[in-house]
Amino acid sequence: MRLLRSTDLALRVLMRLAVAGESRPTTRQVAEVIDVPYTHAAKVVAELQHMGLLAARRGRGGGLVLTEAGRKASIGAVVRAFEGHSEVVECDGSAPCPLRFDCRLRGALRGAQEAFYASLDPFTIEEMAVAPTGPMLLGISSAAPQPWPSQRSGPKTS
Ligand code: SF4
Repeated sequence: MRLLRSTDLALRVLMRLAVAGESRPTTRQVAEVIDVPYTHAAKVVAELQHMGLLAARRGRGGGLVLTEAGRKASIGAVVRAFEGHSEVVECDGSAPCPLRFDCRLRGALRGAQEAFYASLDPFTIEEMAVAPTGPMLLGISSAAPQPWPSQRSGPKTS
């Protein structure tokens, strides 16, 4: 199955912030790193802030910071939140399927979709941001080398 673009952007934003360490990148900086238009990133950032997964601080020295809830958030939970009630097949769209109210296939597909989400539940944002992904994110975020957070304090294991 294919995720919505906004779902993928949300996961990319969270992973980028998971490796930010003490720095607080702006939405524009994050958008540049993950290579998406600023307006798309800003929309996703606002939603993630509303969900309590990141905090945005204004003014000098401000920027985005991942909350503890964001660090521990499961990939499955983020995906469910952004995908909403979307289905893998458009049964009720502009040309509704005549079988849509009594379709066993629709039920089977819903079950498969939920199994897919459930397979992502055990993984957290911070787990997705360790090597090799984390150093890669840092490498494209700045021309100057930055310390990898695990070199300062070590990865959390709980
Ligand atoms: S056959 Fe079933 S799953 Fe396929 S579009 Fe129609 S209602 Fe949906």
